[in-house]
Amino acid sequence: MTLSMTIAGSERIINDFLNNEKPKWLATCNKVTKHTRASKHGKFIVCPECHQGQFVFHFSWSALTCQHCDTMIDKYDWKLL
Ligand SMILES: [Zn+2]
Repeated sequence: MTLSMTIAGSERIINDFLNNEKPKWLATCNKVTKHTRASKHGKFIVCPECHQGQFVFHFSWSALTCQHCDTMIDKYDWKLL
């Protein structure tokens, strides 16, 4: 199994969780701030539009297109799991 396959599998599991448990995690999630750093294992960020997410491995970007709903989201609008 390649690393990218592992990441895709993890993302699918987390996104299923987000779909099923949306109220629970929305109550506790944080937004990306200027202090947010990705670890070497990546950081899971959640789109505020469609509440699905993806792993990122650095935060040296100012906006990112959600791969689930194709919306361009500003860095500090992304939520953290
Ligand atoms: Zn989205």
